[in-house]
Amino acid sequence: MTAESSTGKALPEPTPITRPYWDALKAHELQLQHCEACGQYTFYPRLRCEHCGKDALKWTPVSGRGTLHSYIINHVAPPGWEQDVPYVVAVVKLEEGPRMLSNLRGVPPDPELLKLDMPLQVAFVPRGDMVLTVFEPLQLKGSQA
Ligand SMILES: [Zn+2]
Repeated sequence: MTAESSTGKALPEPTPITRPYWDALKAHELQLQHCEACGQYTFYPRLRCEHCGKDALKWTPVSGRGTLHSYIINHVAPPGWEQDVPYVVAVVKLEEGPRMLSNLRGVPPDPELLKLDMPLQVAFVPRGDMVLTVFEPLQLKGSQA
């Protein structure tokens, strides 16, 4: 069972484990679980640290910066996405280490313009009563580029 927003796009359904992640996004903050035992970050949300297996994960705000690790250009729209294709589905390598699947905006879906390792930053997109993430090229402060 998946909820639907007014756009017809499917929405994720928070679980007890993932709810802190979604609640932080509503406050326009990206949070990851940080392990107080081994010091590493983990994503997606889980009960135990993926690195050391300890039950010592604590939700922590992170930078929201990362780099483009990999991507596909999707031309086949799932229900609700007919107006959006083609669009970029990216694997973003976060500054803190974990990789996150997200959409890109602010870059045309053109392999000539999608440079691997390009710096990205998170942005927040309201949908229904939730907030989702997208990533866009990092805007350096003071730069008009
Ligand atoms: Zn750990």
